[in-house]
Amino acid sequence: YGDYSQKIDYVFKVVLIGDSAVGKTQLLARFARNEFSIDSKATIGVEFQTKTLIIDQKTVKAQIWDTAGQERYRAVTSAYYRGAVGAMLVYDMTKRQSFDHMARWLEELRGHADKNIVIMLIGNKCDLGSLRAVPTEDAQEFAQRENLFFMETSALESTNVETAFLTILTEIYRLIS
Ligand code: GDP
Repeated sequence: YGDYSQKIDYVFKVVLIGDSAVGKTQLLARFARNEFSIDSKATIGVEFQTKTLIIDQKTVKAQIWDTAGQERYRAVTSAYYRGAVGAMLVYDMTKRQSFDHMARWLEELRGHADKNIVIMLIGNKCDLGSLRAVPTEDAQEFAQRENLFFMETSALESTNVETAFLTILTEIYRLIS
């Protein structure tokens, strides 16, 4: 029934951005609740989910924000980015266009967010390897050029999801502590 004595040392807001249908909602569901649903749009309207974890013996509450479909109308607002200390820039590795749009998302992010924000590029749906449209090297090169962390994930098979979130949260912790 919850440990109300638990003291939170840090709250880190991390935003998910990227084209519609790349898997943002499912990455969040996998990380926060270890769930996945094929038909995920029941979750529209959910703003953020939290997960509390221990980093370096400190209690960190990760508050992960999902666009809840706003990106379809190019209506991701500055309120969404406000206070964010981390961002995950998500593309679908089977959809070249979603990767090509990363530069635009990055520009929007850098226009709205704090300049010290930690950014991770995520190539999601790596379980669909035979349909790959974005070579790992292309993404690596982009990430290196733009100074981003990079990982390929599968929300469906749970590959690298925990690792990706842990990596970005640990890096945020390292910067502010
Ligand atoms: P969002 O619009 O970016 O939030 O994308 P969703 O999380 O709603 O996912 C869009 C579609 O892709 C849904 O049908 C999901 O079931 C599917 N999906 C999400 N992540 C994965 C994944 O890692 N692998 C596969 N094969 N499908 C995924």
